Amino acid sequence: GDIADRIVRGVETVQDGVNEALFEPVIRVGITGLSRAGKTVFITSLVANLLDRGRMPQLGASASITAAYLQPQPDDTVPRFDYETHLAALTAPDPHWPDSTRTVSELRLSFKVQPTGILGVFSGPRTVHLDILDYPGEWLLDLGLLEKSYSEWSQAAIKAAQNRDQGAEFLTALNSINADEKHDEQAAKSLAQSFTSYLKSAREAGYSDCSPGRFLLPGDLEGSPVLTFAPLGSNANKRGTLAREFERRYEAYKREVVKPFFRDHFAKLDRQVVLVDALGAIHAGPKAVEDLRHTLSDILSAFRPGRVGRLLALLGQRRIDRVLFAASKADHIHHSQHPRLTAIMEALVRDAKDRADFAGAGTMAMSIAALRATVEETIDHNGDPLDCVRGRTSDGKQAAFYPGELPQDPAHILTPARKGATDWLDGDYEIMRFEPARLTLKPGEGPPHIRLDRAAEFLIGDKL
Ligand code: GDP
Repeated sequence: GDIADRIVRGVETVQDGVNEALFEPVIRVGITGLSRAGKTVFITSLVANLLDRGRMPQLGASASITAAYLQPQPDDTVPRFDYETHLAALTAPDPHWPDSTRTVSELRLSFKVQPTGILGVFSGPRTVHLDILDYPGEWLLDLGLLEKSYSEWSQAAIKAAQNRDQGAEFLTALNSINADEKHDEQAAKSLAQSFTSYLKSAREAGYSDCSPGRFLLPGDLEGSPVLTFAPLGSNANKRGTLAREFERRYEAYKREVVKPFFRDHFAKLDRQVVLVDALGAIHAGPKAVEDLRHTLSDILSAFRPGRVGRLLALLGQRRIDRVLFAASKADHIHHSQHPRLTAIMEALVRDAKDRADFAGAGTMAMSIAALRATVEETIDHNGDPLDCVRGRTSDGKQAAFYPGELPQDPAHILTPARKGATDWLDGDYEIMRFEPARLTLKPGEGPPHIRLDRAAEFLIGDKL
């Protein structure tokens, strides 16, 4: 009865899987990046453009897509990416940026593709599913924690705090605590809060690596013991001490939070986009860029073939064979500067590959704008032409800004010798905050973007 039933159901599930894999291929693409990197805007504009196929000339298969439509996603317990609400925000009469990614979410877009050439004559259209998985880059950085014991992590985290101005208050709080004293929840909570606010302000100051990731984006774990710990200077050897309890919570964080995410979501991806607010980091200064370099190699090492499988003793991890690193918000600068931004991004990726000893997946670096919010304008500045971008500011007015010039040679930004430099982007970059432009889209037209079609070609072009 029961067992036979279960076997039958098992066989049916396998059969479904086989059918889907054979006749309806699924491409699972992960979209990540640290918070505010542009994930929500990227997915919204990508899907809108794919649904309409209005502005995707570089996506080679565009012509053979006969239909694109949204479908119920395969994973019933993952929140759905709120595409309609985000698109409504961007296309409203008074457009505004959508709410950013706070957690993992998913969306399935399906294509009907008419095979070209001789095949097309004999067969009807095929169905290909694109499953988009949106998740915070902060969570990805947690992979490194799986390899670190509590005391190793503590050492590294305290060292990082010492290197950052934002760490001072936490370090004072840490010094006033005796980790070998009996565990007291109020003291634990207060130290964890101090650690969390340090991470948040370091993040706001442009630092990339601020793990554990859920301390910044806790979701429904907010206030739970698994997020109520902090690094400590001394070892936990006595039972019942604060140090012992923090070590236990750190291990619980790895087991209950980090592992399930990688097992249930990450291990099933085929392709990956990493969005990087490179302009933001460049603007924030040398320390932020140095931090971004480290972070990109940490991120890249998560994509090292088999790494997650080994750490989780997982069989059947899919292999991520393409990773796209995209510098977002390229509409903040004039297109004459784009090659420089791309060169910086390429240098960052090359550097990350060297550091992470990375081989296997194909990588690519690009500069893009998922939603173009500016137009270009060359103004006369004391007789010299100045390449500006113009857009809608938060008070609703139009304004042109000169964002400054990126260095010709990426080494100018990326070599540690340049650590003293502070003025890479010396224009108005600081005050540039654009609202999305009012759109007047004709039927079949997607929102305006920069190179989103090239990104799509790299990610899915060969599978359509
Ligand atoms: P997420 O946290 O990665 O989901 O980031 P969002 O997609 O919410 O983007 C964060 C913010 O970056 C947005 O609110 C916009 O201000 C800005 N942004 C994102 N993409 C673009 C873009 O293509 N152009 C411009 N000008 N701004 C962008």
